[in-house]
This record gives sequence, C-alpha cells and structure tokens, in this order.
Amino acid sequence: MTTPLLEVENLYVKYGNIEALHGISFTVGEGEIVTLIGANGAGKSTTLMSIAQLPPPEAPKVIKGDIRFKGRSILGMSADKVVSDLHMALVPEGRHIFGNLTVEENLKIATYSRKDGQAEIDRDYKRVYTLFPRLDERKKQRSESLSGGEQQMLAVGRAILSGCRVIMLDEPSMGLAPLLMYDMFRTLRELNEEGMTILLIEQNANLALKFAHRGYVIDTGEIVAQGSSAELMENPEVKKAYLGG
Ligand code: ATP
Repeated sequence: MTTPLLEVENLYVKYGNIEALHGISFTVGEGEIVTLIGANGAGKSTTLMSIAQLPPPEAPKVIKGDIRFKGRSILGMSADKVVSDLHMALVPEGRHIFGNLTVEENLKIATYSRKDGQAEIDRDYKRVYTLFPRLDERKKQRSESLSGGEQQMLAVGRAILSGCRVIMLDEPSMGLAPLLMYDMFRTLRELNEEGMTILLIEQNANLALKFAHRGYVIDTGEIVAQGSSAELMENPEVKKAYLGG
C-alpha cells in the first residue's frame, strides 16, 4: 500500500487539563475528499487545528500520537511552514478574513509566503476569479461589506492563493443559504477534479457524505465509524444519529 498523503495516528490532544481528542486515527490520500462528521463539540475543529499546527492557546496541545505528511512527522512544525512547505491550508470556521482590507488585498496577503514564481501566482489569481466571478466583480470592495457567502468564497480563494494542494475546510456551509451552499460545493468539487485534496469537516452530515469519497464519524473525541461515503450513509447508527433517521 502506498503511504497516504496525510496520516493522523492515535492523536491525543489537550486544552489545558481537558483532553479533547482521545486517540484519533485517520488518513487522507492524495486527490481524495475525506470528511469528518460529528455533533457540536465532538472534536472536529480541534483535529483540523492540530493538523494546521496552530500554536496554543488557539489550538490544543498534542500529548500523544503523530501527524504525518508523506510519511514524515510534522509535529512541532510552524503553522506558516505547513502552508508554505507542505501546501496545506486551513479555511477556519468564521473565515478570519481581514474585514478592513479589500478583496484584492486579502488575496494578495495570501501569496506572501509562496516560494514559487509570479507565473504560478498569476495562474492562481485567474483560477480564483474564474471559480468565483463575484470576487472579481468586488475586487475593490472592503471585505467586511461582503455577504456571508462571498466571505466564504474569499476564504477559499485565499487558500488557493496560498498555493495549497490540500485544503482543510471547517464548516464551509455555515451560514450559507442553500443555493450558495450548493454553489460552494460545486466549486470545491471542481477544485478536487483539478487535483486538490480536500479534508472537510461538517455538521451537515448529509451534505458532507454526498460530497466526500470517504468519511469518519467523530464522537466526543473518538472515531466511532468510518468507511466510504456510501457505506456510512447506509450504516444504521450513522443514519439514526447524524442523517435524520
Ligand atoms: P463545533 O462544530 O461545535 O465547532 P467540533 O466538533 O469542531 O464542534 P471542537 O471545537 O473541536 O468540536 O471542540 C472539541 C472539544 O474541545 C469541546 O469539548 C470543546 O468544548 C473543547 N474546546 C474547544 N476549544 C477549546 C479551547 N480553546 N479551550 C478549551 N476547550 C476547548
């Protein structure tokens, strides 16, 4: 078997004295869409923050286990290097865009840590503005005045402009009207078809499993089910607890 792109193995993490993940293991293969589903507080965001190597106090502290990228441990790597060297970008819940800057300025900041050339950066600008024509139309607009859906587009656009090959999405459907939500997922699928690996966390398990190739169910810091999306959608316990019966 080939080494998965990303491996999380027996991961235990703590916030202060509170253990939030109790031995989570999962893998993401290159080019896959993998989803982690689970209720509020299950540990989904915590898992993504751990992979992104966000420093405490924002992110929890790893106390046991490992996170590997292409077979090598990335524990202790800086969050910046995860983006610039491993090309993995986190699109956090709440989006974290710079509201007082324009759309264009937000996108530009995302390119600062890149080590490739202007030609690649220009290609990615083109890609973002083609995927999200709304951002093109609103280039000069201050980001705080964008709608929720547009801010979500900007957050994904920034990840693309960081040069990422793996995108980790924390609840991208949050706060979006159904039409915009479907648009967003259609765009994410396009990105995946162009080779982007996607790790998605979602409370909307129906949506996530329709979109992903494989999934894992997290319950209070542990993986309680896993399989292809089709298998999980047929799993009676998953159906009952997460898919509305
Ligand atoms: P949600 O969908 O509500 O964001 P989640 O599955 O992403 O849920 P996490 O945010 O990862 O869950 O939270 C996992 C656990 O860790 C919860 O019990 C939560 O209260 C706790 N937790 C999260 N952030 C912190 C923090 N900064 N300090 C202390 N405990 C935290």
